[in-house]
Amino acid sequence: MTMRTIPAHAASTIGDFRRYPGCRLLLSCAACGWSRTYNPERVIGRLQELRAGGHTTRLTDVRQRIGWNCPRCARMRWRMAFAWPPGLGPAEVKRLTAQARN
Ligand SMILES: [Zn+2]
Repeated sequence: MTMRTIPAHAASTIGDFRRYPGCRLLLSCAACGWSRTYNPERVIGRLQELRAGGHTTRLTDVRQRIGWNCPRCARMRWRMAFAWPPGLGPAEVKRLTAQARN
């Protein structure tokens, strides 16, 4: 059961999560594969609280704000992308997308 990463590009912003209903923000270590996920809305809330950004903050900039090392390998080679949680199949994504439009 693994997350399905949604391909991002250099200009992807954290506010793009709205295009992918049900997605999570996936932070993963490029060195060892350790990962954890976040609720994108909460990360945006936190950026706003710190006056450090918001919906238009690029994923690459969010990543650069991470000030800690990987708990498994102690390196700092973070990757950040949106991802679908395990079990969220195409049918469920379609349903959530329709819901978001209404
Ligand atoms: Zn690591």
